[in-house]
Amino acid sequence: MSQPVQQRILKTAIPGPESAKLHHRRTQAFSASFGITLPVFIESADRGILVDVDGNHLIDLASGIAVTSVGAAHPKVVEAVKNQAERFTHTCLMVTQYEPAVQVAERLNTLTPGDFDKRTGLFSTGAEAIENVVKISRTYTGRDAIIVLSHAYHGRTLLTMTMTAKNAPYKEGFGPFAPEVYRVPSPYPYRWNGNPENIAQEAFDQLVDQITTQIGAHNVAAIIIEPIQGEGGFIVPPPGYLAKVAEFARENGIVFVADEIQAGLGRTGDLFAVNHEGVVPDLITTAKALAGGLPLSAVTGRAEIMDAVPAGGLGGTYSGNPIACAAAVAALDVIVEEDLPGKAQRIEAIARPRLEALGGDGSVIGEVRGRGAMLAMEFVKPGTKIPDAAAAKQVADHANSNGVLTLTAGTYGNVIRLLPPLVMGEDLLNEGLDVIEAGVRTLA
Ligand SMILES: *Cc1c(COP(=O)(O)O)cnc(C)c1O
Repeated sequence: MSQPVQQRILKTAIPGPESAKLHHRRTQAFSASFGITLPVFIESADRGILVDVDGNHLIDLASGIAVTSVGAAHPKVVEAVKNQAERFTHTCLMVTQYEPAVQVAERLNTLTPGDFDKRTGLFSTGAEAIENVVKISRTYTGRDAIIVLSHAYHGRTLLTMTMTAKNAPYKEGFGPFAPEVYRVPSPYPYRWNGNPENIAQEAFDQLVDQITTQIGAHNVAAIIIEPIQGEGGFIVPPPGYLAKVAEFARENGIVFVADEIQAGLGRTGDLFAVNHEGVVPDLITTAKALAGGLPLSAVTGRAEIMDAVPAGGLGGTYSGNPIACAAAVAALDVIVEEDLPGKAQRIEAIARPRLEALGGDGSVIGEVRGRGAMLAMEFVKPGTKIPDAAAAKQVADHANSNGVLTLTAGTYGNVIRLLPPLVMGEDLLNEGLDVIEAGVRTLA
């Protein structure tokens, strides 16, 4: 299949009649418990464009939630998948082995921060990587407690939804939750109740106070933090916070984990979001953008921690599937060779000033924030900080029905987040931003 024309083309209303027919079939066949941002059906996709079954070319500002950083059909990824699928699709890494799994581990050990001996374990989904981080940290430390932040998102399995902060839709009705998960305040600069000059220290003091008085640092196995909170609304911690927490973890024998499942692998303008702060985690989780669209996740970090679980304790039938690993080798090479962190910086240079120009005093946009190609606008009632989820939804709906796929996020549902593929062309990006601007103007 040739690459779709990199142009927004609207042939029908969005969704069009063919999508509507398929969507009707979906409602008759598929569980109604799954959400859908835009009920179009996709026929082909790559770089900045999704082509639907009605022939509409949509601008992609979602990347399938930060997955298709290299595009949805990068020739190198497609070639690697084809080659691997023709040779074999599966053997199970716990039964017999294959080189692509070793190649992925070698690349991640090299690319992740930290000048020490590292090992990698491969799994299938982000939630599974987080589950395994907990198993590894508990075995290594002999402790139970896991510390997470408010506004955190770590997945939808029992343990990871427990670690996720937001109730509906992620937790409502799904309890009882897993034990020994403790939550401390996220240093959310825009909504911090305290001294705006001193957020990193105040949030850190609260973390230390809660751990010391309520749990005991000697009972804590791991502190797990997204270096930029994703689903929570692209919350960037104030400078210095992550370094203080990493230092506290080190002093207390606690494993410090960066969940880079959304922010990692070039998205923020550096290979890893922790690199912006020079923070080196003990363990780092990756998934979403790792395998160019195939399901693969990883835990990478200090060899002595990664080797703590006795052989046989980690694994999974599909962990490190060979097709996903072949795709990941290709995707990681593209991220480095095509300088996707540099492309993310370029996206920020174009998009941030345009988004900031929409804000200002008395605006519906309370804050523009994020890093690289992970940018967000938080919508509020003008002149206040009262979250306005309806405004965010109106702008997203405007963009979606005009052929610009746009996601919302945030604990209060009042954030529009932009996650374009890092390989998106600049004209297309600007056109997508034109439509979002028009959407914001509909609020006036
Ligand atoms: C998406 C996400 C997860 C969960 O990944 P899944 O593949 O959906 O299980 C975990 N952590 C973060 C930060 C994420 O963005």
